[in-house]
Amino acid sequence: MSDLPLIFDEPKQKQKAPKHLADMSKEERKALCEELGIPAFRANQVAVHYYTHLETDPEKWSDIPADMREKIANAFTPKLMELVRTLQTDSGLTRKDLWRLHDGTLVESVLMKYPDRATVCISSQAGCGMACPFCATGQGGLKRNLTAGEITEQIVNAARLCASGEMGGEPIRLSNIVFMGMGEPLANYKAVVQTIRNITSPNPDGLGISARSVTLSTVGLVPGVEKFTEEGLPVTLAVSLHTPDDELRDSLVPINTRYKVREILAAADAYAKKTGRRYSIEYALIKDINDQAWRADLLGKLLKSRNAHVNLIPLNPTPGSKWTASRPADQKEFVRVLESYGVPVTVRDTRGREIDGACGQLAASESSNK
Ligand code: SF4
Repeated sequence: MSDLPLIFDEPKQKQKAPKHLADMSKEERKALCEELGIPAFRANQVAVHYYTHLETDPEKWSDIPADMREKIANAFTPKLMELVRTLQTDSGLTRKDLWRLHDGTLVESVLMKYPDRATVCISSQAGCGMACPFCATGQGGLKRNLTAGEITEQIVNAARLCASGEMGGEPIRLSNIVFMGMGEPLANYKAVVQTIRNITSPNPDGLGISARSVTLSTVGLVPGVEKFTEEGLPVTLAVSLHTPDDELRDSLVPINTRYKVREILAAADAYAKKTGRRYSIEYALIKDINDQAWRADLLGKLLKSRNAHVNLIPLNPTPGSKWTASRPADQKEFVRVLESYGVPVTVRDTRGREIDGACGQLAASESSNK
């Protein structure tokens, strides 16, 4: 375990990311207005432009005097990231954006448009310290935590793409946000909770998206889940379990050497009880590793009386990896066994495979091209 970071450790940033409106509480916004010598209502005007109109071009902030706009924009909405590359697939309905942050760090987000909804999958850290051996992000280690501003910017950008019709067809409202990109969200606790508040607070203090439309995934940081349970934010909790037995999970998800399967399930049960929300179990099916019928049987026994739903994810192999997706017959049998216990199961859509859809693959290939 010595190679795993301590939970809630804050890796040092060489230069701090510029502070952004999305990093600030109401009080901090007010204090900044005082510092700038401008009335406090100006901060609310910027918040309306940012969260309601998704407008970051100060030239278009017509309710703010022209000679004040630049100063206000520099203070509240400094540029946090630039687009390096976009890859599209599914006739443009899926796009993956690679972003360069102020210090050169690369992160990615994936936006998927469906007939009735649009979902963005965002990164909460650059890299990840959890070292899951089947995951591209885990191979490079943790570079740093993202700020709430840097996470929120990925979401606001996605909302803008949806609203402008750039995802093809009719414009659509960004409806769902999943913290399933690079990183372990609960290892960047403060920024992630602030981001969830930015998503769920009504306009103009946030995007006004329901907490029910937000999915927070975790690999099993039990203290983080327990702390999050107290926040009163009823998002969908997704536990990346990947196997029901501690023996295999210790190597597949190394944090399991610290927090065992029964502990993470107990923490998720407490979350479900407090919020009334069913949680999901994420399970990447990996050929001959965790896809045996006896494991489905064990998982069924563990979950049959819990308020949980299983998402099976056919593994998207990372380049050069020995791990690959299960045979269709094994996947079918896994589903059958789980259903025999009355456990609800969905086999997940694998959008984005052609564009390095597994988390971290685009950033990994960009770094190795340098
Ligand atoms: S699977 Fe998730 S938690 Fe594990 S290394 Fe990858 S990004 Fe981190």
